[in-house]
Amino acid sequence: PDAIVIGGGLGGLLSAAQLLQRNKRVIVLERLPHCGGRFTAKTFQGVQVSTGAVHMVPFGSSGVLAGMLRRLRVPHRFFDADVFGSFHVHGQQYRARGLLGVFKFLGPRQFFWFTRVGYLMFFRPLPARESHLPFDLWLQRHIDVKRNPQLVAFFERISRFALSLELSQVSAAEVVRTTKNMLRYGAPAIVDGGCAALTGQLERHISQQGGEIRLSCEVLQILQDEGHVTGVRVRDKLSGKEEVLVAPLVVSDIGPRATNALLDNRKITQAEVLKSKAAKEEEADLALHEAVGLKVHVLSDVSLIPHKGIMYCLDTQRIAGIVQPTNSDPRLAPPGKHLIISHQVIQSNNVEEERALALADLRRLFGEAFDKHCQVLTMGTYRGEWPVNRLAQGEDVLPVTSTPGLYLVGDAVKPSGYLMVEGVAQSVNQFLDLLDL
Ligand code: FAD
Repeated sequence: PDAIVIGGGLGGLLSAAQLLQRNKRVIVLERLPHCGGRFTAKTFQGVQVSTGAVHMVPFGSSGVLAGMLRRLRVPHRFFDADVFGSFHVHGQQYRARGLLGVFKFLGPRQFFWFTRVGYLMFFRPLPARESHLPFDLWLQRHIDVKRNPQLVAFFERISRFALSLELSQVSAAEVVRTTKNMLRYGAPAIVDGGCAALTGQLERHISQQGGEIRLSCEVLQILQDEGHVTGVRVRDKLSGKEEVLVAPLVVSDIGPRATNALLDNRKITQAEVLKSKAAKEEEADLALHEAVGLKVHVLSDVSLIPHKGIMYCLDTQRIAGIVQPTNSDPRLAPPGKHLIISHQVIQSNNVEEERALALADLRRLFGEAFDKHCQVLTMGTYRGEWPVNRLAQGEDVLPVTSTPGLYLVGDAVKPSGYLMVEGVAQSVNQFLDLLDL
């Protein structure tokens, strides 16, 4: 082949499709028996239970991913949200059609400060001395946080839901850039058929264009000669057979940590990452940190969210936001049922406690309806080698590596201002710019 792609996640599949469009011969190597990585789903009790994403694309049908799929001619359909969102606060849900809908729950005084913050974020250049400030400190500089609790919660919950980060973990400049992009591109969308439909279409497209996808094929080592990448050593997980594949271009969709390990002929395990994270925390070394989360899939007999957008939860202990993707595509759950997915940042290493707090939040939000009409299908944590984001927003690396011919794509390579899968798509654009094909 002309190019080898390590990992059949969204970043790997988009890269392969782009290279095929440029007449390159491409092989995608995926160690699992299926493609899609954290952007696919398994059918469980008739529900599309996703491996990661909540079936949502941040910038919707006008976003970077949508544009790339259109140019690649990959069939897809996105249902854009019909509202800015709703907000669960003061024990009830407030629906906000547009951004100004927040007046309903902020009231006049906090709304005044909301518009002031908006002005400071969008209508004047961010002074250099403010751009690296963590967003929580930036807010403290401009508003009295004690007197504006719902306004602070508004920013905090959006950051937790969209970036899986606390406001102390993301800079003011990053929040400003990301929010500007959200407003520029438009509302988020639910993918028709869910995550699996999208990566499934990409997979079919790659095969139709003559690309090869090898499943259950693990890359064990990235090979180099005189400092230039030459190929990879792989193992077929079904037959156990090892093989060397040669190519002058290797694109890695598995993040910098695992890629570096493969260059050293090593393998990263989940247990190893979690252990080294714990050790790192003691040393207060936050060097390479991923965004971690906990997601709950709930099946309900009754509809709990009356729109296609996100319900941000301002009066919860953990859950930051919830979507009901069956409002956009009812086929994501059995007929007459509703799929509800909640997302939160994990704030401690005590997973049992995090799960208990998620359940307590769901009861607090939906009251009796939760116990009477809802069934919790799955409750999973996303961290280590299967995180929400391999590198936290704003801490991403560049696609170019110190080994010529070896490039990185995926959610550790998100350019500033491009979150989640929009960042994944934009990482592929960046890599293509470097190749200049
Ligand atoms: P991955 O999907 O991780 O792909 C990497 C692939 O490489 C995997 O398939 C893996 O099996 C394979 N691989 C690893 N090592 C090897 C090896 N040695 N050899 C061969 N193959 C290998 N994003 C959104 O836009 N919207 C959302 O609603 C959303 N919600 C999320 C909720 C949760 C709980 C999580 C976890 C993530 C969410 N995300 C969301 C983020 C989104 O899922 C990821 O950004 C995106 O899927 C990352 O794609 P990727 O290609 O970079 O990586």
